[in-house]
Amino acid sequence: MSPVRATKRGAERTPLSGRFDVIVCGASFAGLAVARELARTPLATRPSVLVLDRYEIGERATSACAAPTPWLEAMGVSASIRSELPYMSFTTPRGGARYRLPWSWSSFDYSELCQGLWAQCGDARFETAKVEGRAPATPGGRTALDGELTIRTDRGDVSASLVVDALGWRRVLSDPHYQPPEAPLSRGLEVHPHVPESPDFDALECWVDRSLVRRGYAWRVPAAGEARIGVGSYDPHQHVKEGTRELASRLDADAVRYQGNWFPHRLRPATEDGVFFAGDSAGHCLPLSGEGIRTAFAFGIAVGRELGKVLDGSQSRAQALAAYHAQSAAQARFYGRLLKLQRLIPALPPRVLALAFKAVSPQPVVDRAFGWYLDQAHPRLAAAPPPAARSPAPSAA
Ligand SMILES: Cc1cc2nc3c(=O)[nH]c(=O)nc-3n(C[C@H](O)[C@H](O)[C@H](O)COP(=O)(O)OP(=O)(O)OC[C@H]3O[C@@H](n4cnc5c(N)ncnc54)[C@H](O)[C@@H]3O)c2cc1C
Repeated sequence: MSPVRATKRGAERTPLSGRFDVIVCGASFAGLAVARELARTPLATRPSVLVLDRYEIGERATSACAAPTPWLEAMGVSASIRSELPYMSFTTPRGGARYRLPWSWSSFDYSELCQGLWAQCGDARFETAKVEGRAPATPGGRTALDGELTIRTDRGDVSASLVVDALGWRRVLSDPHYQPPEAPLSRGLEVHPHVPESPDFDALECWVDRSLVRRGYAWRVPAAGEARIGVGSYDPHQHVKEGTRELASRLDADAVRYQGNWFPHRLRPATEDGVFFAGDSAGHCLPLSGEGIRTAFAFGIAVGRELGKVLDGSQSRAQALAAYHAQSAAQARFYGRLLKLQRLIPALPPRVLALAFKAVSPQPVVDRAFGWYLDQAHPRLAAAPPPAARSPAPSAA
């Protein structure tokens, strides 16, 4: 869908200033999950929250927008679902397999999903502003670990002692930033042709085919009267436009309404210099599958819960930083395994790959494999009450 520009321009961009309890930079999956969680803190400790994004909420999608249906339900945004997809297929030049999953994917409308999350964010204030970075510390000022953080935007400076960077792969509040293509990033590009609705569109389809992309995969995600057809390359140097056009042509679809972005495939420290990072800014997008929406939700919720404990006085900011840092780092093994598979799978001969997809086909194996995959960031995380235990004393964050 080509976005209708709603972002304020020119004279409408009034100066922005002020002090808040929490500033959430980025109003997409991770940022809105943080703000939504903060709105669930007890009324007495409910903080003043400023959410910043360079675009209006839901104005600009950069994803195929498919996520496990149970996650969309748990986040209260089922109304944004366009197509529920109980099947998943994998095709190679030497054959493939089609699986009935133990849970389903759903494609959704990005704008509606973001609006649905925002509706759950209570009194949080939203402003469109480009976040430019951290303001330099004043000479003799307190350090980032114990004091106020000032965030520089194109509309002025705002400050808070609790700041979240949910700004995506650029990780704007860190220094130095990632610079593609010399960074552990994948790149994706898709087209969004209109297609007639059909009950046959019941699967999230993937192709592992070197004639489309040397190291990566391609996909078609049905979304009611639209198909999201794209290619992702694990190699950031490799362009993906040709592969995307080629797949659209093979599927007899128009290569129209392009959208693309970079996405990380390596975990990064989830805290740095007093700032919490969630979603793509912390490398939470999963290697191999490039799935980053439910992990952005999961880690956004985790940040929100740690901040809630700072606000109710049950832990210090330093403790919250340490606890959240440890939660994210605890996933390093899982992310490392997926990264190894991301390196291995494109190197396998298509015949071996086709056999491997077939080997997973028996229903008990599918149930086990995909059940394990969902378990790594399970939707029950969205419902679980915040743990009552006090966080451990911090090391360095
Ligand atoms: C083509 C493509 C298809 C994909 N398909 C899927 C999929 O189907 N399912 C899935 O799970 N994952 C998918 N992914 C990955 C997924 O999109 C990301 O992992 C996910 O968007 C991460 O969410 P996030 O909230 O961390 O960051 P983002 O969604 O990138 O949000 C960052 C937000 O910060 C804002 N922002 C950025 N810089 C600034 C700034 N300087 N100032 C102010 N605001 C700023 C942006 O406007 C944006 O709203 C796909 C990725 C690509 C590229």
